Amino acid sequence: MKTMFNMRRGKRTLRRKIASSLSALFMTAAILITLSGQEGFPLDIPTWSDVFTYVRLKPVSNGDDNPFAVHFIDVGQGDSVFINSVYGCILIDGGEDGCGEKIISYIGALGVRSIDYVIATHPHSDHIGGLDEIIDAFEIKNVIMPRLSEINTPTTRRYEDFLKAVGKSGAKVIAAKQGAGYELGKVYMLILSPVSQSKDLNDMSVVARVSYGKTFFLFTGDAGSTVEKEIARGEYADFLRADVLKAGHHGSKTSSSASFLNKVRPDSIIISCGEGNSYGHPHNEALQRMEKSGADILRTDKSGTIIVSSDGESLNFKTEKE
Ligand SMILES: [Zn+2]
Repeated sequence: MKTMFNMRRGKRTLRRKIASSLSALFMTAAILITLSGQEGFPLDIPTWSDVFTYVRLKPVSNGDDNPFAVHFIDVGQGDSVFINSVYGCILIDGGEDGCGEKIISYIGALGVRSIDYVIATHPHSDHIGGLDEIIDAFEIKNVIMPRLSEINTPTTRRYEDFLKAVGKSGAKVIAAKQGAGYELGKVYMLILSPVSQSKDLNDMSVVARVSYGKTFFLFTGDAGSTVEKEIARGEYADFLRADVLKAGHHGSKTSSSASFLNKVRPDSIIISCGEGNSYGHPHNEALQRMEKSGADILRTDKSGTIIVSSDGESLNFKTEKE
């Protein structure tokens, strides 16, 4: 297991902090190993992950030295984004029903056991289908989802399974509210939508901006141009700017309007969609607008899982294919 710290050479205080963290770590390891031999101790032989969890130093293996990374997991036609950092983690959506297992093993391989925030952007099966299994598999601290009016609440089996899993998990359930902010160490998350009720569940998507240092990521679920306009004209318009944008609704022509792209001014746009999907996502009209914006476009149907890591200043891109 590889442990990463945001280490800058020559900074004595940081070195001291790391030295004391490491000595605390080794002492804890020694105590845990001694205790594990005693009757009644919950852990058998503690793994390094147990030790890290115990001293609250989460191991992060984003594939490089950066302490923060966004993993756009290839789940075919659907969305699942895992934000991993030394400060905690956030999962946005869990793909279709049947994707749970893949996401569980992906996240598990990163050394993660508990998830600080799960965001269920909206109740369509390509976003919440796999979440029930994922919620069962990890310790979930908070679930953020849109508050739906009775008439908008779906009665699908997938949504029921999801709600049951949330109930069983004991996680705190939070209704997404524009302007609500959440902090995980140096990682900040700001909710930008929903603002109002819509009959179109896509437009009920939780839109969130997550930042680490000077790097910003915008996640829009399946929100369409009506919501894009609503945010761009509202009091949080200035918070739309992001380096990386997850294209709304898998690159559908009903999202990623030119005026919205102009507000966000992303350097990179990630489209999460399945190869040869029946919706024709991403649509040419949307792709043309994205190209015109000057942003680089990356697609999970072509590149597989895409990892964008950050040191707080600059971004590093890695793709599974190509
Ligand atoms: Zn979708």
